[in-house]
Amino acid sequence: MKQSPFSLEGRKVVVTGANTGIGQGIAVAIAGAGGQVIGIARSPLDETAELIARVGGHLIPVSCDLSDTAAARAKLEDLLAEHGPVHGLVNNAGIIRRADALVHGEDDWDDVLQLNLKLVFVLSQAFAAAAIERHHPARIVNIASLLSFQGGIRVAAYAASKHGVAGLTKAMANEWTAHGINVNAIAPGYIASNNTEALRNDPDRSAAILARIPASRWGIPADIGNVAVFLLADASAYMAGAVVPVDGGWLGR
Ligand code: NAP
Repeated sequence: MKQSPFSLEGRKVVVTGANTGIGQGIAVAIAGAGGQVIGIARSPLDETAELIARVGGHLIPVSCDLSDTAAARAKLEDLLAEHGPVHGLVNNAGIIRRADALVHGEDDWDDVLQLNLKLVFVLSQAFAAAAIERHHPARIVNIASLLSFQGGIRVAAYAASKHGVAGLTKAMANEWTAHGINVNAIAPGYIASNNTEALRNDPDRSAAILARIPASRWGIPADIGNVAVFLLADASAYMAGAVVPVDGGWLGR
């Protein structure tokens, strides 16, 4: 029987930060579409393994602190050698530091740019090199943000990093689409996760955010996971360099 263009049956996908939040939602959605998830995280992946088992899949858990980009690259190269060919890479791991721009610390700036932007480039480079060397088509999905388009409030380094992710997505697509590697990004709106806990606990900010979302609710990790499946599947074969908002309508307001 012909495979659905939305299926990931028989495809392996590496997801960074797959232990919680959006990364976990993406990992479970990939498994639900028949894909095999290799989850990289610095925290235990037991909960994600359990959720994947419930949809009939099996997680390959890999432990790594991704803030050391050289170690992260070496880990990914080992994984690709051991499990290749790997069809997809989802660059999801990311951090946010909140401070007024006047006092935003340089250390915070460096930490955010290192994980949210440099790591995305380093892992994508290693992944694309392996796919090109082995002559197999592949997909990269980067997790951008509404702050790839907007400046946000008290998150200067984060907004800079996510604008960078949008630019990097297009730059990599320009070079690698001809090699059969589609690079796209998802720009999630306000999703309930650890990343947005401070906002959801602030009654004023929380009410203001909700009032602007046409969908009248915060997003959930599965909202992003299902779009990630689409961007990893054959159905999106003609998409490259796109930064796709999944935001309940926020940007249209
Ligand atoms: P989250 O729950 O805080 O998840 C962040 C993930 O990144 C966790 O798995 C975390 O691992 C991992 N991570 C952070 N530092 C790491 C390190 N040094 N090494 C390895 N893993 C590390 O937040 P989230 O909302 O799911 O965020 C996922 C992505 O979505 C991020 O890129 C974020 O910027 C983006 N995003 C989120 C929203 C939103 O509304 N939530 C909106 C737009 C974009 P630990 O659990 O070990 O810390």
